[in-house]
Amino acid sequence: MGPLGLVYASSVSRMRVIPGAWRRTAAGAGLIGADGVARPTIFAEMSALAVHTGALNLGQGFPDEDGPAEVLEAAREAIAHGVNQYPPGRGIPDLLAAIAEHQHRFYGVSLDPAREVLVTAGATEALAASLLALIDGPEDEVVVFEPFYDSYAAVVALAGARLVTVPLRWPDFQPDLDQLRAAVTDRTRVILVNDPHNPTGAVFTAEVRSEVVALANQHDAVIITDEVYEHLVFGGPHAPIATMPGAWERTISISSGGKTFSTTGWKIGWATGPADLVDAVLAVKQWLTYVSGAPFQPATATGLRLPDSYFTGIAQTLQSKRDVLGAGLVAAGFDVSVPSGSYFTVADAGPLGATDAADFCRALPQRAGVVAIPLTAFTTPENRREYATLVRFAACKRVDVLEEAAARLLALAG
Ligand code: PMP
Ligand code: GLN
Repeated sequence: MGPLGLVYASSVSRMRVIPGAWRRTAAGAGLIGADGVARPTIFAEMSALAVHTGALNLGQGFPDEDGPAEVLEAAREAIAHGVNQYPPGRGIPDLLAAIAEHQHRFYGVSLDPAREVLVTAGATEALAASLLALIDGPEDEVVVFEPFYDSYAAVVALAGARLVTVPLRWPDFQPDLDQLRAAVTDRTRVILVNDPHNPTGAVFTAEVRSEVVALANQHDAVIITDEVYEHLVFGGPHAPIATMPGAWERTISISSGGKTFSTTGWKIGWATGPADLVDAVLAVKQWLTYVSGAPFQPATATGLRLPDSYFTGIAQTLQSKRDVLGAGLVAAGFDVSVPSGSYFTVADAGPLGATDAADFCRALPQRAGVVAIPLTAFTTPENRREYATLVRFAACKRVDVLEEAAARLLALAG
């Protein structure tokens, strides 16, 4: 932007104070600057930096290859066959059925597709609608593990509630159970658990999961799960919290097709759970998007019905990519936390002299032609110091891209 543009931008921001909940929403996600202007998310900033500098984008978590051909073809077919108008509010019946079949096939959960399943605009909308539906004011608290996926803090702030965090610490990123117990009280409306976990790649132990259920029962809280990486686990099958004893009645389980079918731009997600909880989520969801993605709904149903070998195959492929990335990071001089699931690997840039991961990531395209995300983007300001030198790299890229990134990162080793 030229000088005129800058003057214009700064005079507008000086002259106009736009009231509304947007400010606390942006502030909740740590995106309000001292000037009161909302910044783009870290993903938008870093992907733009990758485009601008031509660096390899190991920042934002999206695959650089298409998913299964039959899923893509099913979307084309749907468009060609007129699936282009509003679908039913809860989702097209075939997708509702496919989600129920999927939950039964992988987790042994029997769902009534008409009452216990809701299709949403990605997991993002399911999360937002669930939190907005269940939080009811400034006394309410939502407990999350920290670092956390950025949308959680934004939506909790929009809802006007308090975010209470339980730290996950380098290098295994499992919570301390005493700290978890201390965080959950009778003010806790929701315990929100992302498993497998973004950004750390942690898969929580059975002990952690059962403590979450026990605490939710003890304090009458609802559990919301974010399981978008459910099929991207490396050490055995994913175990949803909803399947644990005492969990079902108080759990909304959320997932989406984006990661599983490499269709992150389609934004087909879902929430499953007891009918009354699903109805509560629907009561809010219908005023957010109402419905979305008509032709992508049957296509996602096709994906959910792929054979087991597809699902084990994507985990194996990602695991070998994780290993290529991890070896590259170690060779470059990082300390590396080996993830058990998700797209991501967290590396400590401290041994390379970094003291501030955000500065390190902003300089990385120039230094090594690679983009990554600082973990501080997923923390509250108070706890930023704890994660000051940690950086998240995405492994969901072509192997040749990961190999090239590894070769470039060797520049850091000096
Ligand atoms: N939760 C987590 C943990 C994520 O990493 C993402 C990012 N893709 C989402 C939710 C959002 O999922 P969707 O694209 O389906 O809205
Ligand atoms: N889930 C993706 C990630 O963590 C980003 C999605 C987004 O840009 N909001 O990288």
